[in-house]
Parts: sequence; C-alpha cells; structure tokens
Amino acid sequence: LRRNPGEPEFHQAVREVLHSLEPVLRKCPQYADANLVERLVEPERQVIFRVPWTDDAGEVHVNRGYRVQFSSALGPYKGGLRFVPQLSLGTVKFLAFEQIFKNALTGLGIGAGKGGADFDPKGRSDAEVMRFCQSFMTELHRHLGEHTDVPAGDINVGAREIGYLFGQYKRLANRYEAGVLTGKGIGWGGSHARTEATGYGTVHFVQEMLGTRGEELDGLRVVLSGSGNVSLFAVEKAQALGAQVVACSDSSGYVVDEAGLDLDLLKEIKLERRGRLDTYAEARAGARFSSRGSVYDVPCDVALPCATQNELREEHALGLVKNGVKVVAEGANMPCTPDAVAVLREAGVRYGPGKAANAGGVATSALEMRQNAARESWTFSEAEARLAVVMRGIHADCVTAAEEFGTPDDYVLGANAAGFLRVAEAMRDQGVV
Ligand code: NDP
Repeated sequence: LRRNPGEPEFHQAVREVLHSLEPVLRKCPQYADANLVERLVEPERQVIFRVPWTDDAGEVHVNRGYRVQFSSALGPYKGGLRFVPQLSLGTVKFLAFEQIFKNALTGLGIGAGKGGADFDPKGRSDAEVMRFCQSFMTELHRHLGEHTDVPAGDINVGAREIGYLFGQYKRLANRYEAGVLTGKGIGWGGSHARTEATGYGTVHFVQEMLGTRGEELDGLRVVLSGSGNVSLFAVEKAQALGAQVVACSDSSGYVVDEAGLDLDLLKEIKLERRGRLDTYAEARAGARFSSRGSVYDVPCDVALPCATQNELREEHALGLVKNGVKVVAEGANMPCTPDAVAVLREAGVRYGPGKAANAGGVATSALEMRQNAARESWTFSEAEARLAVVMRGIHADCVTAAEEFGTPDDYVLGANAAGFLRVAEAMRDQGVV
C-alpha cells in the first residue's frame, strides 16, 4: 500500500489474488521462495507519456498515455488499450495485473500488459480520433513489437482506433509487422471471431458453469450491463443458445425488453450510430428505458456484468439474490465489488470471475498472433471452434485447481491458483529477473 499510494483498484485486485493464493502457497511453499510473490506484484516496466494533438478547430490538447508491462514470464506483454477520460495509472495497473492470470489461463504463451489514455473519444470526429491515435503511437511504438509487447483494444478502442494505431506504427517502424497489434481488420491481418470472442467466450464459460449441474442456458433469463463490444456479442451468443436476454445498459441508463432484445437494432444504435440506449426504447414497441435504478433490478437467472470495473455493488448483488439469480459471470474486468462478490458467494450463487470468464478475447488475440506468424487466415468457424476449446479448457482448469486446493466450485480460487501456478513455474525456471 505504501509503495502504491492512491491506487485503490490495484490494491483491490492484488488483495483478492493474494488472499485466494494462501492455500496454494501453504501446499506449494516452493513458490513463496526468492520473493516470487513480491516480484509478481511489481510491474516489470511502466511507461507514462505525453500525447499532444490538435482538434478540428486547431486547438491543441494534451492527454496522458500509459503502458504497464507487468509480466513477460510466459510471453510478450499482451493486453488492451483503453481510452476513457478518468483513466489513471492505478486502473491500468489493476488491469495489467489481472491480465497476468487471465493470459496464463489461456495456456497460449502470452505475458501481461495494459495501457491507454485519459482521452475521451465521445463527440470527437474521425479525424480527431486519428490524430490522437497517431500521436499516442508516435511515443508508444518504441516499446512495442511482435516479440515484445502486443496491445489490443479495450473500452473505446475498437476496429477504427486499432486501424489508426497500426497505420502509424507501420509508418514509424517502416515494416509491416502484423503481429504487433491484435483486433485488426479481417482484410489486413485480423482474425475472424476476434470482435465476438470476449462476449462469445463469456457465454461459453457460463454454459460450462451451468453444465456442471446438468443445466443449460436454453430458456434462462439473462441480463447484461453495457452495450459495447463485449455485451453485444454476449447477447448474440446467449440468444443463439436459446436464452431470453431481456435487459442491457450503457453509461446513460438501461433498457428492458421483455420480448427479448432486438440485437440488430442494438448494433445499429451502438455500433453504427454510436448512439444512446434511449433511442432503442423509442424505436421498439414494448421496450422501456430508464436512467434511474440499475439494470440489475431486472429479475434474471444469469447476470453478465460487461461494462466496467466496480459497477455491480453490494446493493445490486442483494437485489439479484432476492430475485433468484443462479449465475453471475464477468464479461468485464473486476465489475463486481468485493462486497458484492461476498453477497453472491454467501447466497450460493455461482460466480465466474473475469480473469476466467472473459479470457476469450485475449485468447483469440493470441490466435490472431499465431495466424500472423504463420501468414494464415482461418475461417470464422475454425477460429470460433478454437475459442470454444480454450474456454472449455479454462473452465476445466479452474474446477480442477479449486478442487485441488480444497474449495470445489470456487472459481475465484480456481482461476487464481491455476493462473498463478503457470506463471510461478516460469518465474522459478527463469531465475531472479
Ligand atoms: P466498449 O467501450 O465497447 O463498451 C463498454 C460499454 O459499457 C459501453 O456500452 C458503455 O456505455 C458501457 N458503460 C461504461 N460505463 C458504464 C457504467 N458505469 N454503467 C453502465 N454501462 C457502462 O468496451 P468493451 O465492451 O470492449 O469492454 C467492456 C469491459 O470488458 C471492460 O471492463 C473491458 O476491460 C473488458 N474486456 C474487454 C475485452 C475486449 O475484447 N473488448 C476483453 C476482456 C475484457 P456507452 O456506450 O454509453 O459508452
């Protein structure tokens, strides 16, 4: 705490992991040697830089860029870039720390990093976003490389931004290094199913969680937060598996549509028009929009928080439990507060933490790197089939580790322990570095 003042989210993420690793370190004391845990919680490198850019009116703005390269024990640093106005170093560090365990769980040979900027793309023209991305990459490029650090998208960094970032990297590096960024366009090195992967993967993970008790998603009521990249494709997969998806949200409020969300309309509003959810309710008979209360007030069997960190709080968890929720799985990173998690677990709700449940995105990014290295392009169904295999594997590893360390059904312990053991083994083999 003294070493990292003013970084509450980073403290929260580290505390959760270290707490759940206690039985692991008791049973495997070799991993407590050589200050391995102390090394694990200290980023290998963090870069903070100035991002100056000019808006369409000629006014100069200055933002702050970040890249935290947390762990390269298992491969090149890997993790997304996020553009949100309130981004701080502590947020980037928590995300990069979570990424260590998530990326280890995929078993695909990727280290952990995260980055972004305190830039708000809302209301900015394409030309402004392009100039911002070019300036951001002008500094960041010297720290990247297909064998060094491979960013992807995250909140507010989608295909458009990845395109601008890649274009500038290519110009500065003077080479077409496809593997330096993931989430690229399909026509120029991107992988099929990368856009869908996090949302689809979360739903695959939920299917596995339900499957342990012989249940399935077909016919269950699902509620999600957010209506961005992760949420929309979670809706798509959940609907394909027969779920009744009745509500989602954005930063302005939430919509309830008892007839089941109209995904085409949602995609048109959120992806094409970059609009707000109230327009969904205006366009769709029977749907209602609310800017008061929470999407978690809507009764459901499965809740998928897919928006942002610490958005599902204790009061929301109490409401979900009261309304009979069975499964909560995190499409977003750390969307449930510790108090909320405690409520869910005490009530016997099955809870899938983000580092396991949303690992499908980074897994497909690693598969994109694999295709780039081999100069191959798999079909959508091949990429999706591999994603499903990875998610089944992660679920099985979580279950096995939770049983091994004494708390079956505890996905938090399972995810942290299984991820930690892979990283710790590599760190021991590689010596004190
Ligand atoms: P997007 O920017 O595409 O979407 C985020 C969505 O969340 C938007 O609809 C946004 O609303 C909404 N939102 C933001 N804050 C709130 C809030 N307080 N309450 C309700 N809704 C809110 O981001 P992604 O979908 O890519 O990422 C979402 C989460 O998933 C993040 O935690 C991210 O780290 C995590 N994640 C993403 C991966 C990926 O592949 N993209 C991979 C693994 C994890 P609005 O539309 O109004 O802006």
